[in-house]
Amino acid sequence: MTEQFDFRAQVNRSFDRAAAFTRHHPTLLAQVRECNSVYYMSFPIKRDDGTIEVIEAWRAEHSHHRLPTKGGIRFSMTVNRDEVAALAALMTFKCALVDVPFGGAKGGVRIARHKYSEGELERITRRYTFELKRKNFIGPGCDVPAPDYGTGPREMSWIVDTYLSLSGGELNALACVTGKPVTQGGIRGRLEATGRGVCYGIRECCSIAEDMKRLKLSTGVEGKRLVVQGLGNVGYHAAKFLEEEGAVLVGIAEYEGAVSAPNGLKLEELVAHRKETGTILDFPGATNLPNSSDALELDCDILIPAALENQITTKNASAIKAKIVGEAANGPTTEDADAILRQRGVLILPDIYLNAGGVTVSYFEWLKNLSHVRFGRLQKRYEERAHKGLLDALAKLHGDQPSDHETPEFARGADEIDLVNSGLEETMAVAYREIVDRKTRLGNDIDMRTAAMVNAIDKVAVTYEELGIFP
Ligand code: GLU
Repeated sequence: MTEQFDFRAQVNRSFDRAAAFTRHHPTLLAQVRECNSVYYMSFPIKRDDGTIEVIEAWRAEHSHHRLPTKGGIRFSMTVNRDEVAALAALMTFKCALVDVPFGGAKGGVRIARHKYSEGELERITRRYTFELKRKNFIGPGCDVPAPDYGTGPREMSWIVDTYLSLSGGELNALACVTGKPVTQGGIRGRLEATGRGVCYGIRECCSIAEDMKRLKLSTGVEGKRLVVQGLGNVGYHAAKFLEEEGAVLVGIAEYEGAVSAPNGLKLEELVAHRKETGTILDFPGATNLPNSSDALELDCDILIPAALENQITTKNASAIKAKIVGEAANGPTTEDADAILRQRGVLILPDIYLNAGGVTVSYFEWLKNLSHVRFGRLQKRYEERAHKGLLDALAKLHGDQPSDHETPEFARGADEIDLVNSGLEETMAVAYREIVDRKTRLGNDIDMRTAAMVNAIDKVAVTYEELGIFP
């Protein structure tokens, strides 16, 4: 049987597998599963050469059980109705899992990003924002986009600027989109948040001695051999932070090809090489692999797909050698491939958990915009003084002179970045514990994806139950 890739059907299958472990009414489960609204638009754009092109775009809002709905906007040729609907569903479950009080959404513009100039991309982004605003598909209280595959802070600043120009002095207008540059109302730490969250999630996983023992691995990230597919924002930062934690990068895949280096390679050196030559290939000390996807089958401990969906399929699942698959991308593993990996004892950290760091810090950015104050502004100096007072009192007890030296690192008051990172770390740690608790309650042969999904469905369903309209 050939495996048909229908992303929405994949997400629905994963939902159904988990829903069977819950006790919610079938009608309520149907409501939680379905995508509430999809807005399709097409609009003309003037290219730099004067020709006109018709662009197709979508925004899907999967669930309105909490508002606003939240999720990124991608620029890619893979974008279609089903893709945004599937990705919006994953956003609903991701937000619920990490207690970010939003419904799920996702948008997409069907373009090959590299074929457009900066000016053309700006016109596309601004027109897309205009269309969203016309239909109430963007706004601080209804639907808040963010970066995704092919977009970043630059696109978010075009979005917020267009929104501001249309919103007529709306007090919270800055909160209409997250992932903005810090100078445009963004928050420190958002850019690297998804990758940092991936690192925290992997660290949680590697800290559990029994799981590591079952996988015949040592406890901790230190020394683990890592392969990363995709050096975009998420893959790059995940690799960077895991390398800092002591992981050894033995393989990297990008669209132009892949390289392998069993003894490890240095991420920054590879990035510099790519900047210089335009490719990761021919990196000194590494071996080129004929196909980019070959990297997925490299001998390693941890494999991190950080590109697009549908990468681990029935075609390659049996050839994957990693003992841990960390889904930094959304939907990288098909349901049938997931079953093969599970059967082979591979530990899969599911996307709705592992890449939730991005939306978690988006939530902090949204809160910052609504409160109109930078985190840490009120208490930083107060904290520092209190810590310093304590240190001086201790010194006095010891008969030492209070020091007028620079405040030591541990006595500093918390800055925005400190608060963002600690909030993210706590979020990832708590969600991991909740998934493990669920696994224990359901029986330990339940996999992480099912346990995470059961937690997410439960949280969404309970919100609906509180509305009192479902049996
Ligand atoms: N696009 C990211 C994701 O898939 C972030 C979404 C957000 O911050 O709203 O989770």
